[in-house]
Amino acid sequence: MGRRRRKVTHIPKKRLPKVFSCPRCGKETVRVEIFRDESQAVVSCGSCGIKEEFQVKPAQDAVDIYCMFTDRVYGSSKKVLTS
Ligand SMILES: [Zn+2]
Repeated sequence: MGRRRRKVTHIPKKRLPKVFSCPRCGKETVRVEIFRDESQAVVSCGSCGIKEEFQVKPAQDAVDIYCMFTDRVYGSSKKVLTS
């Protein structure tokens, strides 16, 4: 009989997006690098070159750090924007 079990394929876990959109230039070129050993993270944009470093708590992941990043950028852009 040709009735076979359907081959079980492992569905990869939905991974966090690797890149985020940049609050400054608007392109999806922001990368969050987490250095757990040092409890540090570096967020940088490959397009406009903005770069920020953050302290990371064990419970925080890339999305949380990205949120801090946008807060910081929006907070500091007020005095930078000239328009
Ligand atoms: Zn950018």
